[in-house]
Amino acid sequence: MAEAIALRKVTKRFSGVTILDEVNLDIPAGSVTVILGPSGSGKSTLLRCINHLEKLDGGTIRIGGEMVGYKQKGQALHELSSSAIARQRAEIGMVFQQFNLFPHRTVLQNIIDAPMRIKKQSRQQATSKALALLKQVGLSGREDEWPQNLSGGQQQRVAIARALAMDPGVMLFDEPTSALDPELVGEVLQVIKQLAHSGITMVIVTHEIGFAREVADNIVFMEGGKIVAAGPTQQVLDDPENGRVRNFIATVL
Ligand code: ADP
Ligand code: MG
Repeated sequence: MAEAIALRKVTKRFSGVTILDEVNLDIPAGSVTVILGPSGSGKSTLLRCINHLEKLDGGTIRIGGEMVGYKQKGQALHELSSSAIARQRAEIGMVFQQFNLFPHRTVLQNIIDAPMRIKKQSRQQATSKALALLKQVGLSGREDEWPQNLSGGQQQRVAIARALAMDPGVMLFDEPTSALDPELVGEVLQVIKQLAHSGITMVIVTHEIGFAREVADNIVFMEGGKIVAAGPTQQVLDDPENGRVRNFIATVL
């Protein structure tokens, strides 16, 4: 089920350096948000905080009203148990630039692992869902391949199928096409486009401005650990007053 995401004063530091600086952001349930911004601006860190791969140094993140990673006791926040964090993470799919498939497992094994292990699905149940997902991402018949025998675009589509196998309410994509040869970018963007507005809340870090313009409801532009522009896609991309966004777009087009 799609769920809204709410960030309040989210702060993250590495070795005393502030990487996310009191970030506030509301992402409506079922919407598509594209995060743009120069390298080092904190985009990946923001995604990693949303699924609690990073612990916050301040602020809160809620998904569907439930605080991510922490529970409140009086005024203080306490980190959840690892099993409670795992339960929350099961609701959040993540797709990385480098695909991160298990290299020593087949395509099918990659996809059915988490549903069997975490959701306790039977092998048969997980397999039939996996085959349907492979069809959805255009990889029918490839279930017994090893990841290294697939192109980057195919591996990334398997990674998307693997994330979808958990039926997540939220999908996070961190530059899903940045590691791909240019001719393979389109097939991955096409799969992501088909997922948009299908009932999953999607947050996508990408430099693909054309894709963002086509698919995103909202654009968030980050710089130096802060959101410096955010709003409906056209408004953010086409605002003549928004010099920083325009300059950035000029560098990535
Ligand atoms: P982006 O994804 O926008 O390129 P990142 O979120 O990866 O930016 O990184 C933002 C800043 O945080 C960078 O300066 C980066 O070097 C720093 N950073 C990210 N992760 C770590 C880490 N684990 N330890 C120390 N510094 C980090
Ligand atoms: Mg990044």
